[in-house]
Amino acid sequence: ELDKYKHMRNTNKSISAFKKSIELLPGGVNSPVRAFKSVGGNPLFIDRAKGATVWDIDGNSYLDFVASWGPMILGHAREEIVEAIQKAAEKGTSYGAPTLAENEMAELIISMVPSVEKVRMVNSGTEATMSALRLARGFTGKDKVVKFAGCFHGHADSFLIKAGSGAMTLSLPDSPGVTKAAAADTLTAEYNDLASVEALFNEFGSEIAAVIVEPVPGNMGVVLPKPGFLEGLRELTNRHKALLIFDEVITGFRLAPGGAQERLGVMPDLTTMGKIIGGGLPVGAYGGRKEIMDLLAPSGPVYQAGTLSGNPLAMAAGSRMLQILNDNPSIYKDLERKAARLEEGLNEQLKKSGTAGVINRIGSMMTLFFTELPEVNGFNDAMTSDTERYARHFNASLDKGFYFAPSAFECTFISDAHTDDDIEKVIQAFI
Ligand code: PLP
Repeated sequence: ELDKYKHMRNTNKSISAFKKSIELLPGGVNSPVRAFKSVGGNPLFIDRAKGATVWDIDGNSYLDFVASWGPMILGHAREEIVEAIQKAAEKGTSYGAPTLAENEMAELIISMVPSVEKVRMVNSGTEATMSALRLARGFTGKDKVVKFAGCFHGHADSFLIKAGSGAMTLSLPDSPGVTKAAAADTLTAEYNDLASVEALFNEFGSEIAAVIVEPVPGNMGVVLPKPGFLEGLRELTNRHKALLIFDEVITGFRLAPGGAQERLGVMPDLTTMGKIIGGGLPVGAYGGRKEIMDLLAPSGPVYQAGTLSGNPLAMAAGSRMLQILNDNPSIYKDLERKAARLEEGLNEQLKKSGTAGVINRIGSMMTLFFTELPEVNGFNDAMTSDTERYARHFNASLDKGFYFAPSAFECTFISDAHTDDDIEKVIQAFI
């Protein structure tokens, strides 16, 4: 049905590469959303990227608003970061022993993220959230975790429950292979609805180890916290001696140098990080108060380890990225200006064309929901989005040279590499 979008560009090389990859990789990809299943058409095979532009293997160029799903806040192949990786690679790619680069990275993270006193490096956001939950369970001696419908925390068993538009029944796993026991320990509440969290604490209060939340969700599209919601989670978790985990894999280093917690002024007990933190290399991290973090092996009994954790190339790329962000507050001002203009311009275009839509934005992350609703405040609101309309927008944009996320429930990311002129081009081309 969705294959009705016939593109004007020549993408023959991508088409034959996908035919081949389907025989080699499940679904032809190494991560599901890359396959363009919800927008139709053939995924683009990328040859290279520089600044705000990506090129596919047929030689078409696109202004990129996916940013590798978040990491590339400074644009692609930023010179300082490429140099840092090259220099590190010449000294060997992995030793499995401590390095000065890990100290440097940890110092940067601790200085930037307000609630983090100690940090453990891992290799992905999934590892960060999975390990933070184990630590929260070890610290509190309790088993259950509260997550929010539509929030995604990676693919560990405990979090594949209402992790998007999947299974909707209470505590039903979103995926075969997730055990009923794992699902039973994951309770789900509604984002922006404190009463739904309170009800879970009333029923299971003494068993809840942690509440995990994307402080600003990006995985049901961008949804903004209502005033008092995050503060309410802080108060409820304190009262019931549960930990509050902010999953800042998307928001970390994006909404401010110290992430959503700095921007919104609510402090979690544990923070999970990923994406931007690795400068485009596979990195994750989790951190928090010393008394909690020191429970991790080898200083404490909660086990977590990794052959490539703190990898020298990843640390080189990540610290360079964080240094640039930390040293240049003007980057965040510029991102705000460009993103605000994009929001304003797209709103004008929606109005002009009589298209129903809601744009949610904070800083340089935003989502346009094609919905008749006046506001989108949670998962059920997000699900009213017209995915067919999004698919049309997505495919027409590709033909005009703009690369948005191949799913209606993702973020549009503005990067330091986008120019004001780029933003005007997208607005003018709106379809
Ligand atoms: N947490 C959030 C909020 C995410 O958006 C993601 C990935 O999109 C993850 C965790 C998982 O991170 P990774 O894909 O690096 O495992």
